[in-house]
Amino acid sequence: MTLHFTNTMGHRLEPFQSIEPGKAGLYTCGPTVYDFAHIGNFRAYMFEDVLRRYLELSGFEVNHVMNLTDVEDKTIMAANKAGVTIFEHADKYIHAFFEDLDTLGIARANVYPKATDHIPEMIEIIKQLEEKGHTYESEGSLYYRITSFDGYGKLSGLTLDHLQSGARVDSDEYEKEDARDFVLWKGWKEGEPKWESPWGPGRPGWHIECSAMSSKFLGPHFDIHCGGEDNIFPHHENEIAQSEAANGCTFVNYWLHCRHLMVDGEKMSKSKGNFYTLRQLLEKGYKPRAIRYLLLSAHYRQPLNLTLEGITAADQTVRRLLDFQTRLKEASMSGPEGDPVPEIKTLVQGLEDGFKKHMDNDLDMPQALAVVFETVRDVNRHGDTTGLNRGDAALVLQALQKIDSVLNVLTQEEAVLDEQIEALIRERLDARKNKNYARADEIRDSLKAQGIILEDHAGGTRWKRE
Ligand code: AMP
Ligand code: ZN
Repeated sequence: MTLHFTNTMGHRLEPFQSIEPGKAGLYTCGPTVYDFAHIGNFRAYMFEDVLRRYLELSGFEVNHVMNLTDVEDKTIMAANKAGVTIFEHADKYIHAFFEDLDTLGIARANVYPKATDHIPEMIEIIKQLEEKGHTYESEGSLYYRITSFDGYGKLSGLTLDHLQSGARVDSDEYEKEDARDFVLWKGWKEGEPKWESPWGPGRPGWHIECSAMSSKFLGPHFDIHCGGEDNIFPHHENEIAQSEAANGCTFVNYWLHCRHLMVDGEKMSKSKGNFYTLRQLLEKGYKPRAIRYLLLSAHYRQPLNLTLEGITAADQTVRRLLDFQTRLKEASMSGPEGDPVPEIKTLVQGLEDGFKKHMDNDLDMPQALAVVFETVRDVNRHGDTTGLNRGDAALVLQALQKIDSVLNVLTQEEAVLDEQIEALIRERLDARKNKNYARADEIRDSLKAQGIILEDHAGGTRWKRE
């Protein structure tokens, strides 16, 4: 089987064929930067991280674009409340967002365009829509007439009965079963930021930014567009209406949406107040690797219920993988010399084939992980009975690390450890500067106990693992 995805457009499992061989253009709707992202948002970003990493493992060069929504109803309200400009307010939360991505080991997109940096591009698309007769003005705002676009509803499955053309909606988010003409350009209101436009001063509606920025960075027709399931309607439906009407070509080939992260059967969301931020979970002592594993271990098209017990269980599961990796590393360095034996070669082949087979099948992570843990069990059993030689261990380790280029729980753990070591080394240097030699020695001894050797030299301290 080659790589297949379930396309929300048409709800079918389809083989993935990129527009340009070996390359994949990926657009993922990013955060509205008015507050810390909650862990539900990170379910979406984690699914997209797994998708992107698996595309890369499958040989695609991925161009990943994620927008940052810095002008929208919520950012304006929050900035006004804080008494700062939307730019100052957004900067703080953009910074926090990147920190959270790093903590969770989510790879950075190639570019993070901000809405406020692309107002001219948005005005340009709106002008095209106006020229082609898809818009009308009302009370200083410009609206998209949804019945002017034949394909309206094709992503979400809304039928003509649900289209309320002429009924306008100004707010950026609204509920299903209520498809109305949506706003492209909002006339200026007291207390809101404003930009000049052919329709008077004001600001863009939310949906237009993704049409403008995706075509700027990926072209008018690209491979994959993702988001959480709540993005299907109205946001992605409106993006399609804008982009396809303006550019006259298919917008996106594959639409992928992840189901929500739930709490007690309800979507985790800011408005319901049933959310945790990543920072809150870390303060409670949960490890990033456990949160990462929990979020990625479910199938992206299945709802995932968050419980604190679930995070603890995820941590134990990652621990098993880490212990396995340690055993392999030790055996590959100090085990008996030798080439991999046939039994180990078969297990590794089974691991690689099994992981690929299930991931190719619409990123079926639960099945792919089942293969990983079967292999852990079988290799451990072989190690306990027959022993592992260096060749065996190196072969399994190589396969495990390839799989971890998608999971990113093993290397992620080492990166966090490295950071802790660096922090202790800085503390030791400070202690020595302050002539607190007892503390300095204590740090050296505690690191030595963890197998970390410090070497002092003129410019500072180097460290290595024993
Ligand atoms: P927002 O900042 O609300 O625009 O959301 C950013 C991303 O997070 C979007 O792709 C949403 O679909 C996604 N999202 C929001 N809440 C959840 C949730 N509870 N579970 C999964 N994804 C979510
Ligand atoms: Zn979007």
